[in-house]
Parts: sequence; C-alpha cells; structure tokens
Amino acid sequence: MNLSIRTKLTLWFSAALIVVVSLTYVCIMAVSDQVLQKTIRDNLIETVEHNVDEIEFYWDKNSVAEPGDVDLFIPHGAGFLEVDDDFLSTVNQVYTALYEGNMLMLYGENPVAKECEDVPFQDRVLQKVRSGGIVYYVFDRELSGEGLTGLWLRGVVSETQGREELAAVSKVSLTILPLIVLFAILGGNLIAGRTLRPLSEITEMTEQISQGNDLKKQISLDPGGDELHRLADSFNSMIARLDASFEKEKQFTSDVSHELRTPMTVITVQCEYSLENDTSPEEYAASIQTIYSQSKRMTSLINQMLDLSRLDMRPEYYPKEKTDFSALIGSVCEDMALIRDKGIVLNARIERGVFIDGNPSLLVRAVSNLILNAYRYGKENGHITVSLQKNEGSSLLRIEDDGSGIAPEDLPRIFDRFYRADRSRTESGSGLGLSITKEIVSFHGGTVTVESFPEKGSVFSVSFPEA
Ligand code: ADP
Repeated sequence: MNLSIRTKLTLWFSAALIVVVSLTYVCIMAVSDQVLQKTIRDNLIETVEHNVDEIEFYWDKNSVAEPGDVDLFIPHGAGFLEVDDDFLSTVNQVYTALYEGNMLMLYGENPVAKECEDVPFQDRVLQKVRSGGIVYYVFDRELSGEGLTGLWLRGVVSETQGREELAAVSKVSLTILPLIVLFAILGGNLIAGRTLRPLSEITEMTEQISQGNDLKKQISLDPGGDELHRLADSFNSMIARLDASFEKEKQFTSDVSHELRTPMTVITVQCEYSLENDTSPEEYAASIQTIYSQSKRMTSLINQMLDLSRLDMRPEYYPKEKTDFSALIGSVCEDMALIRDKGIVLNARIERGVFIDGNPSLLVRAVSNLILNAYRYGKENGHITVSLQKNEGSSLLRIEDDGSGIAPEDLPRIFDRFYRADRSRTESGSGLGLSITKEIVSFHGGTVTVESFPEKGSVFSVSFPEA
C-alpha cells in the first residue's frame, strides 16, 4: 500500500494509543472492582462487629426500661434480649439479622435468608453464597455473655452493591478516554503534517531540479533548525557544489577547445597556403617547421590534460613509495641549472635526509613546473633559489625568483586551469602548469602557496608531510 509517511505515522500511533488506552481502561476497572469489593467486605465485617455490642440480655425488662426508650425487647430463655436502637439492621445495603442457633431469625432482615439456611454459622468467617446469579458475602458472629448463648448475628451484603459506582467510573472512563484518544490523534496528525511539510517541498524541488536540470535552484523553507531543515541545507550546498563543479567542467571543456583551436587553425592555414600556392622548398620547410611546433604544442597540451584527468580519476596509476626528496630535488636542480636561459643562475640549498611518501615522477613534474616558470618569468641575468628543509614534521620546499612577479589581482587565480596572467608576455605557456602542480601536491597531502611582488619576484612554497 502506498501510504504517505503522515498517514503511516498517524495510523501507527493511533493504534498504539488505542491499545494503551484500552489497557488503561481495563486496569482502571479491575483496580476499581478490587477496591470496591474490599470496601464492601470491610463494611460488612465492621457493621456486624458494631452490632454485636448492641444486643444485651436482661432477666427483667423493667430493670432497664426507661420512659420513651425505643429499644426492642425480645423474650429469650428466662429473660429478655434488648436490641439497642443503634443496631444497624440495614445500612449501606448491609443486612444484619439476629438468629438463634437453629436458623430461627429473631430480628433484622436478610434478603437471601432462604438461600442462607443451608450455610452453617461460622464465627468470624467470611463466606460466599450464590443466589440468582448474584454472589453474596456472609459474615457471622457468635454472641457471648450472660444469657446470650446460642445466638448468632449474621450480616449479608450483595457483591453487586458497588456496581453502580463501578458503572459510573466506567461511564466516565468511556467518555473521557475516547476523547483523549481523538484529541491525541488529531493533534499528532496535525504535528506530523506540519513537521513533514518541508519534506514534500524538498521532494517537489528535487523533481523540479531533475526535470529542468537547473542546478541554480535552491530549496527555501521557513526558518527552522530541525532535521528536515538540516537536510534541506545540506541538499542546497550539495546542489551548489555540483553546480560549481559542472561550471568548472564546462569552463574546462571550453578552454580546452579554445586552446586546441589556435594551433589547429595555424596548421590548417599553413597547409592550405602550401597547397594552393607555388611554394618554394624553403617556404615548405618553414611551413612544416610551423606545423611541427604547433603539433608539439598540441601534444604537450593533450598530455597535460591527460595527466590532470588521471590524477582526478585514476590515482592508482601513480603508486607512492618512500622517496628521498632531498636527492630528487638535487637531481632536478642539477638538470635545470643547465638551462641557463636569459643568463639566469640557479642556486640550490638542500638539507639532506628529507623523505616523503610520494610518486617520484609526479614530484619531478611538480618541481620542474615551478622551476621552469621561474625561468620563463625570470629577468635577464636573474637568480633562482631552490631550498629544501625540514620544518616541524613536514618538508618545506621554496622556489624563489627575482623576475616579473605576479599582480595581486592575478594571485588568487594562477592555480586555475588555463589561467595565464599576462598572455602577451609569453605565448609558450598553456596555463596548465600550476594547476597540475597543485593537483600533484594535494595528491601527496601537501600544500602550495605563493607570495609575489610585481617586478620584484615570486616565491612558491610547497609543504609535504614527512614520511
Ligand atoms: P603557464 O603555462 O602560462 O606558465 P602556469 O599554470 O604554469 O601556466 O602559470 C599560470 C600563470 O601564473 C602564468 O601564466 C604566469 O602569468 C603566472 N606565473 C606562474 N609562475 C610565475 C612566476 N614564477 N613568476 C611570475 N608569474 C608566474
């Protein structure tokens, strides 16, 4: 059955509530019945015990009779029995009667006298007698004292005596309890509806987003801090992150096409020119030279993109091992020092014995990119200083140049893919070098930062956790 969460919740707690309330009702009735029965029995015993003292024996009636006295006198043996006017023959539906030992009722009332005839007298014993489907409690007391021999007091009370009170308790319970249940169910249903309303808004919005593919949409709920509001917030930030990464992907694809189009156009134009015109062997050679350098540029671009996507998608392609970072940097510096482009001199200050967990070929790439940039953007006869040292559980590598520097407004973007601060200054770069370096550094759990002052130079600092 496809029931809504609200209906399911309401059904569940309604059923639970009905069970609980029914059990409560049964308990109330059982306890009330027990209490009533005990009260009835105690009352019977108390009434009979009270009446015991109200019967006295006198040899001569006149010795006690006073004018206006309403006491009753019953001849008994050689004297009289005096039944005091305080004798409770019928009170609270407890009937008390005075008997001679042979079941002869002398005084009082007993509605089940006949049925009681077969029930023998038993002093201070509570007996049960059933008559006409009704249970009666019977309590006897044997009288004792001068002239009171052979006399019994028998008290009788019906078990149903408290039924009216019980019926009243039941009636009140049966009116109030269903009202409480109804109230609780309606209230619960209302609260469930209110609480779950954001869920339907979230569902609606999710459907809208997935149908329209619009990642700019956000779920907006009334203010609140419950779980559903937190869900909506995380959903919104997830969608925002997805949107940002889709945007980044779109930007990347459009940059890639743009970057590849330029060398492709140059190659096409060179080919067309060479095919359409009477081209001299020298011109052919120049064209082929241009085509060659453009295709080299394209190949390097494609390789760099391939590396970036491998780092993103297939990190297992680059296994890590404990690497002597000092030795690795030393050998990169030795190789790079041979470049001597623009008369730039490279100095290395390397602390021995720095080890990190890493992939050597990736590390070489990352460091080479930074040193190549220092050459590319360095000034004539300038200096590059590469230093490596241990620094509180990590290794700190600094590549410092005294070249063109980077404008403050470009600094936050130089690690973005295809970002090049000043394209007019050099056409050779692709804008991917620093983003690859950054990917490699974070692949190794490290960080790369830059400080730079235009026309003074730049310092790139790379920090890796030590192995
Ligand atoms: P590119 O292929 O253009 O060098 P990078 O990603 O390596 O691409 O660098 C991005 C931009 O950052 C460069 O275009 C340049 O403007 C700037 N840059 C990087 N390194 C340096 C540096 N050492 N000195 C000055 N500018 C730099």
